[in-house]
Amino acid sequence: MISFYPGPSRVLDTIPQYVAEAHREGILSMNHRSEECMLLIQRTISLLKDKLEIPIDYSIYFTSSATECWEIIAQSAVEKSSVHIFNGAFGQKWFDYTRRLNSNTKSFEFHREDSIPVEDISAHDGDLLCITQNETSNGTQVSGSELEKIRKKFNDKLIAVDATSSMAGIFLNLSDADIWFASVQKCFGLPAGLALMICSPKAISRIKSINERLHYNSLTYIDSMMQKWQTPFTPNVLGIYLLMRSLQDRDSIHDVYQKIVQRFDLWIDLFSNMRSLKLLISNASVRSNTVIPVAASSGLISKVKLEARKMGYILGEGYGELKNESFRVANFPALADQEVNNLMNFFTDSGY
Ligand SMILES: *Cc1c(COP(=O)(O)O)cnc(C)c1O
Repeated sequence: MISFYPGPSRVLDTIPQYVAEAHREGILSMNHRSEECMLLIQRTISLLKDKLEIPIDYSIYFTSSATECWEIIAQSAVEKSSVHIFNGAFGQKWFDYTRRLNSNTKSFEFHREDSIPVEDISAHDGDLLCITQNETSNGTQVSGSELEKIRKKFNDKLIAVDATSSMAGIFLNLSDADIWFASVQKCFGLPAGLALMICSPKAISRIKSINERLHYNSLTYIDSMMQKWQTPFTPNVLGIYLLMRSLQDRDSIHDVYQKIVQRFDLWIDLFSNMRSLKLLISNASVRSNTVIPVAASSGLISKVKLEARKMGYILGEGYGELKNESFRVANFPALADQEVNNLMNFFTDSGY
């Protein structure tokens, strides 16, 4: 079975080999305070900076999930309040988790067919803006040029970006925001249980001045441990090793991005020419490159999912309120050309 689910998704073919190596080399029982583990973490961070073109002065931390990153940001990076700008279920969840910790949290919603309305956004007295770059639930994205505009307009604020289903798949200009995060079970092609948080020097100095220290995962504490290439708790050492090994074998982010866009164009072309299966998002300028939602009657949606499964392909369920009337196709780097071609042929041959 090949999973085109937009996370967890198909993992890299090299995973079994990397796991065997990890076992052979004693990684699975490695002490997380040992010299070897510190070297592993240091090496992984330097590969991340290199392969994802992360600015050299940004800091990288390991957490367990993107959900944990939502909470870390709410605890450690907000002075008075954050403003959440979103158009779908993941942005909404981030807002909901934050609101439980801080009743001053504000939201600004826009429609999934619209570009993020940079002109209309007001930060009020908020000090942190929260943006979901790639809204996995409805297959829309905030473009690089819009992020750049937001950076310019709110230069005195911190900007946090959820890039969970796009990081390592598309090129992101990380200097346009202060806090970025993603878990690895999407575009990294790795098993779940590890996430990255990437912070600008401005974010770190703000976090140090807030100096929140109430939690095991307070960012001040995580940052001070990372000075010694360590984490507050025993981290997912196997996950970090798999990340390190896969980064060693990874193409540059520009090459990966080019491949993703080529496939994206083919998918868009295919679904633009189907009779009953239609792209959920009609505004071409907001479509996500990595998650493609397709809409039809609920009867046809269940039929297509079932037929695809018989061929060995798992399509992603529609998310939330879009569950019955749509499915989602992941366009993640770990999917092989042959698998993508086969699934495309399945759709073309179906005549739907
Ligand atoms: C998948 C996803 C999450 C949740 O990731 P976890 O690792 O399960 O916490 C958060 N935000 C977005 C945009 C996602 O796609």
